[in-house]
Amino acid sequence: MSNHIKLFIPGPTEVSKKTFEAFASPMIGHRSKDFQALYREVQSGLQKLFYTQRPVFFSTSSAWGVMEAAIRNLVQKKVLCCMNGAFSDKWFDVAIRCGKEADKLQYPWGKPIDPSDLKNRLNSNAYDAVTFIHNETSTGMMNPLFEVAAVMKEFPDVSFIVDCVSSFSVLKIPFDDLGIDVMLTGTQKALALPPGGALFAVSQKAMAKAEKTPARGYYFDFLEFQKNHDNSMTPSTPSISLFYALKSKIAEIFEEGLENRYQRHLTMALMTRQWAKERGFELFPQIGYESISLSCIKNNLGIDIPQWIQLLKNRFSMTIDGGYGKIKGQTFRISHMGDETPKTIGNLLDNLDECLQELKKA
Ligand SMILES: *Cc1c(COP(=O)(O)O)cnc(C)c1O
Repeated sequence: MSNHIKLFIPGPTEVSKKTFEAFASPMIGHRSKDFQALYREVQSGLQKLFYTQRPVFFSTSSAWGVMEAAIRNLVQKKVLCCMNGAFSDKWFDVAIRCGKEADKLQYPWGKPIDPSDLKNRLNSNAYDAVTFIHNETSTGMMNPLFEVAAVMKEFPDVSFIVDCVSSFSVLKIPFDDLGIDVMLTGTQKALALPPGGALFAVSQKAMAKAEKTPARGYYFDFLEFQKNHDNSMTPSTPSISLFYALKSKIAEIFEEGLENRYQRHLTMALMTRQWAKERGFELFPQIGYESISLSCIKNNLGIDIPQWIQLLKNRFSMTIDGGYGKIKGQTFRISHMGDETPKTIGNLLDNLDECLQELKKA
């Protein structure tokens, strides 16, 4: 791994040696008693992380698989998509491609979803589902999940579908208390596991609705997940390697303690924002809505971002991200989720400074 470039990008995040060792465990049959025991062990940890009594399902797919699944299982009438970044904008397209009726609740990138706008739109009675992205990874912005959840409680017949892909385990997101219908995440963001897995919970109400939704398909049918879960299994052969890695990661998380984990993430976010401001940078998202998982920083100093990142790679074998989609080059993103610590982030920021000085000299 001598030429390994350490990742400070918002997914996939850096995977530790310990996690890789767990990931490389020998295979077992996915219909064996050993697998059932592994499944149950992981399950109890996941329920604590989701703050739920409901089952937590594992899908061998990236997060998009479950984002599409939620549409296919729960949209019967029309879905309203809350949109203000690359992932949330794309979810609308995915709904259309699934043959569903969909409308946009669109904001400029970096501006939060306004719960009162959502309420007004839902008052029309036109919708039976809402898609909502908690942490827009493309813009480094956290949407007001708790305020939006309070609005959604006034509309119990509208399924509340929440993507927590890049905020899960960064802060407390209580699935049961918030009344979320589907909450999903991926393995390669804050959990710092290799990509290829998605985790999700489905409310009882949403499960009953899925039963009556036609054309759910097979691979992502919520009912298949439930039926197999009842037997501590997955519908098809899962990434058993990811189960081992997940087991190892869950043990690590509870060793650190949830409150410590949340505090560590907040400390790293505050450090990074402070660093940016002291150097004259501005943050991309609207003030007060900055992500705790990553910082999306405006390139208001007109820096040659690709050259900066190249220097960081050459000299320190590390990388950050040069901006996503239509704000590539106008922004850069530093991920501070997963296994990073104030020490590793401090080191990255020092290295970025050194490369910045060198860029200015050239
Ligand atoms: C990364 C990400 C996704 C997509 O995840 P895949 O694993 O690539 O499918 C979706 N939503 C958000 C907010 C993300 O950060």
